[in-house]
Amino acid sequence: MLHEFSPLAFDNSYRSLTPSPQDSIICCRDDTVLTAMGDMVSYPCLADLGQPAERCTYLFSIGEQPFFLLEEGAMDMAPAGYAFVPVQELRYTSPRHLCFAGVVAHHLYRWYASRRFCGRCGAAAQHDQVERLMVCTQCGQREYPQIMPAVIVGVVDGDRLLVTKYAGRENPRPALVAGYAEIGETLEQAVAREVMEETGLKVRHITYYKSQPWPFTGSMLAGFYAQVDGSNEIVRDEQELSEAVFVARADIDVPHMGLALTNEMICRFKDLGPDVLVHNDPVRQEPYE
Ligand SMILES: [Zn+2]
Repeated sequence: MLHEFSPLAFDNSYRSLTPSPQDSIICCRDDTVLTAMGDMVSYPCLADLGQPAERCTYLFSIGEQPFFLLEEGAMDMAPAGYAFVPVQELRYTSPRHLCFAGVVAHHLYRWYASRRFCGRCGAAAQHDQVERLMVCTQCGQREYPQIMPAVIVGVVDGDRLLVTKYAGRENPRPALVAGYAEIGETLEQAVAREVMEETGLKVRHITYYKSQPWPFTGSMLAGFYAQVDGSNEIVRDEQELSEAVFVARADIDVPHMGLALTNEMICRFKDLGPDVLVHNDPVRQEPYE
């Protein structure tokens, strides 16, 4: 998936580092990220940008390579040979570890940009030196990066899987029931509630599969399979979904893209059928083939 690029390791432990001239700098502007023009993703180094190192915040490292974020507004024009490209396009380019670096950086960029002032007292906030968080200069309110937990649910009815399409999108991809967890509920309760809200179905045997960080929406996705409990008659939430149908395993015609959890879960059901409900080993997190 998008976050899998073994043997390189993603290290997001926070360090208070300053970039050297040859370190990679990720520069975001609205919904775009600055990358070299061409087929491959490539970020400028500090020397390319001619910016002072103090305007950069350490983000994370991948393998031995550290990445830094340039302060918002420091660079509005792309330097020669570079362009601001929509962050969504990074999903379809390579190498994968640099695509992932860009989308995670953009998630943090959006969070830093929206936390310049304290949400409690309105005073300026500043970067903490020890942890990745913003601290209010007046009241001391501490804000950690925002990650929204969401569930994705493969609803199984015998040898059929419930496949949905989101309403209001052009050429929507085949999807599964999905939604954000609400305050006060477990992920399993979110699964049962979302399935009921979107399709009117009851489920049981709620079985965890695996998780995926999804920085495009600031989410942490948790994938589950569940079995229909009782009636399999679908009452579709028409505002949310343009389609919700059970598809026989043999009729599932979705190519394995290797990027997103939803796609992987649909392909895994095609391979395993209802066994997805028993082949659950959260310790085994190796890439799905
Ligand atoms: Zn405050």
